[in-house]
Amino acid sequence: MTDTEIVTINGLNVIVQRGKIKNTYFSIKDGKAYMKVSKYCSKEKIMEMLESKEKWYRKNLQKSHESREIDLKNKEYIYILGNKIKIEYIYEDRTTAKILLNENECKILLPKGIILTDAHYQKMEKKLDSLVKSLSGKYIYDAMKKYIALTGLTPKEIKIGKFKSFWGNCSSKKIIKMNQKLIYYGIPQIEYVCLHELTHLRYMNHQKDFWEHVKKYMPEYKQISSVLK
Ligand SMILES: [Zn+2]
Repeated sequence: MTDTEIVTINGLNVIVQRGKIKNTYFSIKDGKAYMKVSKYCSKEKIMEMLESKEKWYRKNLQKSHESREIDLKNKEYIYILGNKIKIEYIYEDRTTAKILLNENECKILLPKGIILTDAHYQKMEKKLDSLVKSLSGKYIYDAMKKYIALTGLTPKEIKIGKFKSFWGNCSSKKIIKMNQKLIYYGIPQIEYVCLHELTHLRYMNHQKDFWEHVKKYMPEYKQISSVLK
């Protein structure tokens, strides 16, 4: 039995849950700040602990809201499998630009002395997009294979691309489309979307049977999918 109240600290709302626990826990979930604390803890003590954690909450809340879109002109990092990777610019003796991308690094090799214009950024982003697509494809096909084997559900075709309005999509013709941007998140998120779309091969809507099927193969799907916005 827990009881919950919202405590505001310098304008930051924290959902404080009191229960029969000894330790204190701080967490961020679905873009909200949480604190779990013993039901015997005084209000003063709670305020004191929250004050000392305020900076941590703000930092992590921001992180959870940060867009993972590639924007070479304004951002010097890219997310790969949930890790924030700094993009390295290397200027060397060469005539054309080259981009290297893998799970651990993103390097942009450029001719010495080049002055980057908007057109350069656009071209580099296009190239990076195609590298993201092939890296993403590797993980998406692995996840698909795994969940096709587990569920016995098989699509007619899998297409990977950059889609604006969905992470995954399953048509009545059994064609599944998967968003390459899933690679910015983790393998669990990639697997969740694969399972979600495969489940649509059996249940086209999002009713109870659908979610029960998802849950059967991924009990913690709610937590996993909550980071996909
Ligand atoms: Zn769906």
